[in-house]
Amino acid sequence: MSEVQKNNPNVDSTPPQIIPVENPATPGLSDQPTLIIGAGPAGLTAGYLLAKQGLPVIVFEAEDQVGGIAKTEVRDGPGGQYRFDLGGHRFFTKVKEVDDLWHEIMREEFLKRPRMSRIYWNKKFLDYPLRGPDVIKKLGPVELTRATLSYFWAQIKPKGREDTFEQWVSNRFGKRLFDLFFRSYTEKVWGVPTSEIRAEWAAQRIKGLSFFSAAKAAFFGNKGNIKTLIGEFHYPRFGPGQMWEQMTEDIENLGGQVLMSTPVEKLEMTDGRVRKLHAGGQVYEPNQVISSLPLRNVVGMADPHPSPEVVAAAKGLRYRDFLTVSLVLDGQDLFPDNWIYIHEPDVMVGRIQNFRSWSPWMVPDPDKACVGLEYFCFAGDELWETDDEELVQLAMRELEQLRLAKPEMLEFGFATRVPKAYPMYDMDYADRIKAIRGWLDGIENLQQVGRNGLHRYNNSDHSMLTAMRAVDNLVKGTDHDIWAVNAESVYHEEEKQDQQQPYIVTPETRAQEKPLHE
Ligand SMILES: Cc1cc2nc3c(=O)[nH]c(=O)nc-3n(C[C@H](O)[C@H](O)[C@H](O)COP(=O)(O)OP(=O)(O)OC[C@H]3O[C@@H](n4cnc5c(N)ncnc54)[C@H](O)[C@@H]3O)c2cc1C
Repeated sequence: MSEVQKNNPNVDSTPPQIIPVENPATPGLSDQPTLIIGAGPAGLTAGYLLAKQGLPVIVFEAEDQVGGIAKTEVRDGPGGQYRFDLGGHRFFTKVKEVDDLWHEIMREEFLKRPRMSRIYWNKKFLDYPLRGPDVIKKLGPVELTRATLSYFWAQIKPKGREDTFEQWVSNRFGKRLFDLFFRSYTEKVWGVPTSEIRAEWAAQRIKGLSFFSAAKAAFFGNKGNIKTLIGEFHYPRFGPGQMWEQMTEDIENLGGQVLMSTPVEKLEMTDGRVRKLHAGGQVYEPNQVISSLPLRNVVGMADPHPSPEVVAAAKGLRYRDFLTVSLVLDGQDLFPDNWIYIHEPDVMVGRIQNFRSWSPWMVPDPDKACVGLEYFCFAGDELWETDDEELVQLAMRELEQLRLAKPEMLEFGFATRVPKAYPMYDMDYADRIKAIRGWLDGIENLQQVGRNGLHRYNNSDHSMLTAMRAVDNLVKGTDHDIWAVNAESVYHEEEKQDQQQPYIVTPETRAQEKPLHE
């Protein structure tokens, strides 16, 4: 618990109590620690729930910080500590179990925050979801006429083929609206031209939405036909990392161990069991293992290696990565939104977070603004390899180009790279997962959980739910299929659980050339 929290009389600081479980279903669970790989949301959930039942656990974390993709970066600056959330993590779930756990961990520190996010286009903020009068005002008469003419042209002379995202959207909305509101953000997110993204993917994402339904919704409201956007969400006072730091402290208070900077390197397996786990120069003999390791890595760490088919499947799994440039700027907030989408083709930044809007406690000085510029990329590409200082300069140049800030406002900045941020669903990924899963099913004391652990494009609530089910399997003897944990019970805002892949030809990534265990 931070000093600020400790000094806050409203914060209940009683440590959690052990509620011992009698006769856990899995033999040896009370005597030998369950070994958990990764101190992200999934691994920590497993560790916390086991420790709370009086069962021994050791959580191994490769980094010197907990939270995984959902961690909070902290830097000292003018007036105190500045906090940066990589990606902006809203805590929203339909799963009561997860919601209860979030409140149990955070107590009074779990704030309810209003949501605001808009599209930034042509140096103007457009309401999101789009509203008719707002669109008309911001587009202006010339652009509106062009968009309308282009729409009617597409109706008279639609493109014969509809193989690509570009053709599909242009046929329905007109080329002009496609260029204005679909092309640039989509290309930034996926890293290829929209002419290389499949039409079916557009159809799935933009299902039920046409020029007229969008216009109708814009003028007469949504009436629940297009998925509504949540107006508020929960958020820890000091960013998402506070949740994972508190969980870590709770696990330790309950008698468990969380070993930082202790990467798991090898899993020795014989006769369908993990016999030895190598981590941080030590060898552990596990009874049970819960792993949130990316599937690629778990295959790479297995000794002996699984069959060539399984190794090939793991080598084929791909990821989209991203990096955030966090900046502290002199002056007031650049905008009131939590984040804005950048629909400007001339800059590389995809989204900009405004951390004070997430929680005012993230920014200690009222005269400083604190933003995070998100760049989608592939690990190893030119942007990824760019020197940190140059990235800060790039971010400042782009803010100036967008007319949001001036270079002299920069107090300090830094870049954070997030490898394997998005597990990619390419043409063959389902077959690859099937092959890897077939091998994993034969290892009786190893359960995979979490986002990259299951190669699922999920939110943290789903990651945590998979860990809860894995713990049930051990303690209660249930037979939950972790792979089948209900994705529908999880709320996804823009990112639906895409079972379709976006790419016509999946881009080769440099990260694929790396050894499997890295
Ligand atoms: C841009 C972005 C925005 C997001 N927004 C939201 C949101 O608004 N709301 C939401 O709920 N979710 C959001 N998510 C999703 C959320 O971040 C993930 O679902 C969640 O972090 C996954 O948790 P995890 O524990 O499965 O994996 P991770 O967070 O990836 O944690 C895995 C952990 O394992 C560790 N590890 C890896 N290898 C080893 C090793 N060899 N040995 C030991 N440890 C190892 C890693 O260091 C890491 O700490 C977002 C994700 C992104 C990328």
